[in-house]
Amino acid sequence: MDSRRRSPKPPRPTAVNAGTHPRNDKASSSSSGGEGRGGGAKASDALPLPLYLTNAVFFTLFFSVAYYLLHRWRDKIRTSTPLHVVNLSELAAILSLIASFIYLLGFFGIDFVQSFISRASHYDDAWDDDDADDDVIVPAKFVDADPALCSEEDEEIIQAVLNGDVPSYSLESKLGDCKRAAVIRREWLQRTTGRSLQGLPLEGFDYGSILGQCCESPVGYVQIPVGIAGPLLLDGFEYMVPMATTEGCLVASMNRGCKAILLSGGADSRVYRDGMTRAPVVKFASAVRACDLLCYLENRANFDTLAVVFNRSSRFARLQSIFPSLSGMTLHVRFNCTTGDAMGMNMVSKGVQNVLDYLQNDFPDMEVIGISGNFCSDKKSAAVNWILGRGKSVVCEAVIKEEVIKEVLKTNVSKLVQLQQNKIFVGTAMAGTVGGYNAHASNIVSAIFIATGQDPAQNVESSHCLTNIVSINDGKDIHASITMPCIEVGTIGGGTQLASQSACLNMLGVKGASQGSPGSNSRRLATIIAGSVLAGELSLLSAMAAGDMVKSHMKYNRSSKDISNAAS
Ligand code: ADP
Repeated sequence: MDSRRRSPKPPRPTAVNAGTHPRNDKASSSSSGGEGRGGGAKASDALPLPLYLTNAVFFTLFFSVAYYLLHRWRDKIRTSTPLHVVNLSELAAILSLIASFIYLLGFFGIDFVQSFISRASHYDDAWDDDDADDDVIVPAKFVDADPALCSEEDEEIIQAVLNGDVPSYSLESKLGDCKRAAVIRREWLQRTTGRSLQGLPLEGFDYGSILGQCCESPVGYVQIPVGIAGPLLLDGFEYMVPMATTEGCLVASMNRGCKAILLSGGADSRVYRDGMTRAPVVKFASAVRACDLLCYLENRANFDTLAVVFNRSSRFARLQSIFPSLSGMTLHVRFNCTTGDAMGMNMVSKGVQNVLDYLQNDFPDMEVIGISGNFCSDKKSAAVNWILGRGKSVVCEAVIKEEVIKEVLKTNVSKLVQLQQNKIFVGTAMAGTVGGYNAHASNIVSAIFIATGQDPAQNVESSHCLTNIVSINDGKDIHASITMPCIEVGTIGGGTQLASQSACLNMLGVKGASQGSPGSNSRRLATIIAGSVLAGELSLLSAMAAGDMVKSHMKYNRSSKDISNAAS
């Protein structure tokens, strides 16, 4: 097996490679606008005529001049004129014959010969063809891995996966080597799809660290730049906040907000609720029986028993409340528990399963329809989360001084307050969102979530936020606050243990499980996210109030670099 690292090759004639007819390929490459694709240059490329007309012209020319020259040849033999004595029209006919022959050879002949060469070499090369309608799959090799890892033995395994003898998902368990499994799966994937993964890194990642925890069937990893904003002065501590994002302006904007907070003496925050939820849905033969369970669950005496059953699931899971909600014969039961420093979905699910098993003794006619009945409510925008909270509920505030608003935020109190009223309160109410009373909380939440290994899908409810700005001190300063009822974060478990995410948690001083006081690291992380959101809100609202937002986005989002050059 050729295990050299290959540089990207120039596109090859796809018609030949894909085994399709050259004429079809030419037509498809031109219709899809694929510049530079679809084969080598041909004489027909230079003509401003449709392909079939160009071919017809050259065919007609070739056969008519050949017919004419044969006639002239016969006449010369008859009149005993030497063949090499040619007049002007014969000379023109000969030149036309040669020209049309070259055209026809270039169009049909070269591709024909190449198709033989290509087949004979068993598709010994790879090419990159982006035509969406090209569904021909060719087993080309895409070797861009470490040469040491592409042995003959690997090639045999690749063939076994290609033949369907070994499922690609089982490579880790079969080989006992996660990196090698990723290399082989990647090669199999490229060959089976005929698409290159060049650009998706493979090296520099510990594939063992995600096994059974973060991602199945890996073939590489996506790089996201991490920027740093701060210092964020929050509750007397300074934090440098890592943000993984591809949105220009975001880090710069938050940095400005952090500066405004710092120069104003810092922000203060509190976690006012803490609990992860899971809500199974159960069913009875009658609404009355469902109501019996509701009454049982609402009885405080039963709560203590159920808490003991629930808490057996983990050292860290502690049941806080049970909130049943009736719907005819079905009951949705929202369990809420603290989960230490873990985000806690696994923990709470285990506890709920314990309780459901226990309840089956007293309610044998209870049918569990699903461990989650969407009243939890995980990864969805939901009023129940907005009102009751989920994960960490955090409030954060800062007083921003008049001179800081002027010097750093480049606006003034009345403009900021007016914008807050009309955008955040009135506009959001008119739009009818749940939890969307903010400018861009989700931007900050997502960037910190990705940097610190949180579940990015929980950004949906974690970004629920109400941003309030009121003028104080006789209209000189502002009191800015954000209230975020559902920040769902952990500092242990899930993606938090991966090397790069763990490094970002370390930068914030909240890496792993807190030894002294379980839960304090994840609560601290939630407050840092809230403080960062406050900084982000202040900066964006100020930019908008000052009318600068579009200008600064053009500066940071639209690089002056020639994008086509950058891409190449
Ligand atoms: P999640 O419930 O967020 O999915 P996991 O259950 O996968 O998280 O991971 C949490 C694991 O970490 C559990 O096995 C738990 O016992 C362990 N653990 C160790 N220290 C702590 C801590 N301080 N807080 C929470 N979990 C901890």
